[in-house]
Amino acid sequence: MLRKIFFAMIIYPLAAALFAFSFWGESRIILRAAEIGSAVAISPAGAPAQSYDRSRRILLPGTAHETAVYIVTTPVEGPVVLVIGGIHGDEPAGYLAADTVASWVVNRGTLIVIPRAHIPAIRRRQRNGEDLLDLNRSFPGSASGSPTERLAAAIYGVMLEFEPDWVIDLHEALFFERLRPGALGQTLIYPPQGRSIDIVEQLLVEVNSTIQAPANHFLLLRGALRGTVLSAAVSVGAESIMVETCKQLPLDERIQQQRQAVLSMLYLLGITVY
Ligand SMILES: [Zn+2]
Repeated sequence: MLRKIFFAMIIYPLAAALFAFSFWGESRIILRAAEIGSAVAISPAGAPAQSYDRSRRILLPGTAHETAVYIVTTPVEGPVVLVIGGIHGDEPAGYLAADTVASWVVNRGTLIVIPRAHIPAIRRRQRNGEDLLDLNRSFPGSASGSPTERLAAAIYGVMLEFEPDWVIDLHEALFFERLRPGALGQTLIYPPQGRSIDIVEQLLVEVNSTIQAPANHFLLLRGALRGTVLSAAVSVGAESIMVETCKQLPLDERIQQQRQAVLSMLYLLGITVY
């Protein structure tokens, strides 16, 4: 009798609670994966980090160019990844995707995000800020130069400080590379100096597997012009990739593709987002 009461009052409710809890946990992960646009096939089953530290700092505080850097560090050893959006102010999918990436938590390594690198250019909805210098031709920048050169120097300072293993730079182009060679729309661009072409080729396959229309698939290009984020990354010994969506596609699709590219790259580096 006592045994029956024991089971009825303690064991059964406990089992039911455990079952409910495990289901709740699982559905939370699925919801989270859906929210960040993760394809099920590339959602690795990794245990979340026991703890993490999230911090935020401001580059060039008190100036028109001040911009936020979001840093998630974990106690688990792993790659340091820097994600940059908004280098150009008229490429919204990059900085809107980076806004979301800035809220992600990772299970290992360090994730640093500068979602809106060039605030004056974003405010103007133009490629450049008021000094009309192209931020993506201004690296490594100059602390005593024009506003855009000072901004480049501040972002380059983040690279020097954190020594990222990978830098992911989010951009957009007006036309499809497939239709107009040189236009860069729907491409992943990898510097010729890169040492991890196998990972980049896998990234191409992963991202394209989430895009239904073959005409919208990304192509892989090799190159890094002087003064770009990619060449700055090369100079600090980091691997880097540039994601270029095409502005002929709907904005929500482009944002999704940009987020997917970052998520897939983190996955290929052994990092789980949760
Ligand atoms: Zn751009």
